[in-house]
Amino acid sequence: MGMNEKTCNPGTVYLIGAGPGDPGLITVKGKDLLRRCRAVIYDNLVPLELIITLPPDVKKYYVGKKAGSHRVSQEQINELILTLAREHECVARLKGSDPLIFGRGGEEAKFLKEHGIPFEIVNGVTSGIAAPCYAGIPCTDRHLASFVLFVTGHKAGEKYKTTVPWEWVADAKGGTIVIFMGVGEIAAIVERLIDNGMSPDTPAAVIERATFPSQRTFASSLREMPNTIAAHEVQSPALFVIGEVVSLRPWLDWFSGRPLAGIRVMVTRPADQAVNLYENLRLMGAEPLPYPTIATEYRDDPDGWDAFENSLDSGGWLVFTSENGVHYFFDRLTARMDDIRRLAKFRIAVGGAGTAEALATYHLKPDFVPSRATVDDLAAEMTARVDMNGAVVIRVRGNLAGPVIEERFAEAGARVTPLTVYRTYHPDWPDGFKEKLFAFPPQAILFTSASSVEGLGHNLSGEELKQLTSNADIFSLGPMVSRTLREHGLEPTRQADEFTIPGLLAALLNYYTKA
Ligand code: SAH
Repeated sequence: MGMNEKTCNPGTVYLIGAGPGDPGLITVKGKDLLRRCRAVIYDNLVPLELIITLPPDVKKYYVGKKAGSHRVSQEQINELILTLAREHECVARLKGSDPLIFGRGGEEAKFLKEHGIPFEIVNGVTSGIAAPCYAGIPCTDRHLASFVLFVTGHKAGEKYKTTVPWEWVADAKGGTIVIFMGVGEIAAIVERLIDNGMSPDTPAAVIERATFPSQRTFASSLREMPNTIAAHEVQSPALFVIGEVVSLRPWLDWFSGRPLAGIRVMVTRPADQAVNLYENLRLMGAEPLPYPTIATEYRDDPDGWDAFENSLDSGGWLVFTSENGVHYFFDRLTARMDDIRRLAKFRIAVGGAGTAEALATYHLKPDFVPSRATVDDLAAEMTARVDMNGAVVIRVRGNLAGPVIEERFAEAGARVTPLTVYRTYHPDWPDGFKEKLFAFPPQAILFTSASSVEGLGHNLSGEELKQLTSNADIFSLGPMVSRTLREHGLEPTRQADEFTIPGLLAALLNYYTKA
């Protein structure tokens, strides 16, 4: 095992809290352990981004509720954990928010103990504090609340089933009451609290889908709360907060009001390359839906590599037209050569700003960048300005790249060698992903490459595709992508002015914030 290899305690199950929706609300420890596990079992509210960014060979099991079928029972979940724990080095059991706050993490841990399986438990931020925070409500306040109660609203309407001392809760003045699992029971809860002496005018709020960009918050008096949630058709998951602290919301709300607030944006880009894009969308208030239609993998023995090595002493041009090409090329180069100066005789051309940026991570600057980021512009401008006659050109590419570059350079007299360093394929979406896509469909779909358009049909039937695309705005990175979209019968709503990811984000922002 290498010095930097990630390890875990063998045979251990990690019960990890994923936070309530914002993928940033998993802990650093939880995320680190997640990346070390070989199998992960995840619940309904676990942020999909945490799953899709795991390596493809990590086994992924969804145990949340699926459309048209029953929830996987706790017994079945326990059995699955047990089986996986016996098969794998280490297993992550990823649960919504915090595993031990109304999360049944205790039951799963006890079951593991009984079966002699070692486990560790890692906190996640509970919705009990995250939802108020994202709604601009402090749980405590020096003047308004000196304690917080976490209460389950489950079965509150059935007098003999609930073990919550509602009379006592109603009497607990001077604090904040946070109620989980209460949407279906809110009328009964409010009645009990008021009957037992809580003022009907006490400020209250309900926070639905907290910490997701599509979060909705409604505040009203305690008495009005049942009407409020009926009027807005509030659905589970939602959390109730009752107490004077709710009155601070007008000052403390920071979450709503960002430019793309609540807009769901499907991102078809490969997940491992989309992490910044997800983050930037979230910063603008949008909800990234991580549904990659393509993925890439290393080609072990690329044709053309020998030709490239043989020309190191004479030099020529290295041509990159994708970030992937840059990264896969340098991965291989650094594994086989210990000195970057072996490249000194080569000049470098790139397809555009994104590729140049990838190159910059290796402390290299391109010698040629076309004025517009298309392969046609690159070929036309380079053959016009540089004498290519007899030049060696190593064209670094993926298996799906078109022949334009090779053909044009060959016409200009260059000796072109295609060097295919990576392969693009259409990945299967993990279990549970598709249901969620239709439960919360995108308002916008982003396409950053032609192959991401071509991969759309891999996980979706024609009918599903039609349903999805006819209800969403389609954003294209540039002319190649738009052309491919049209070939597939899809008309881009907007094409980026500048053919880069920042350009695409600008188009999105512009479209949704125009007056
Ligand atoms: N372990 C979880 C709670 C699980 S019980 C935690 O620590 O938060 C499920 C209840 O949690 C839901 O009915 C709802 O009341 C609350 N909840 C979980 N995630 C939520 C979210 N994103 N927004 C609002 N409420 C949420």
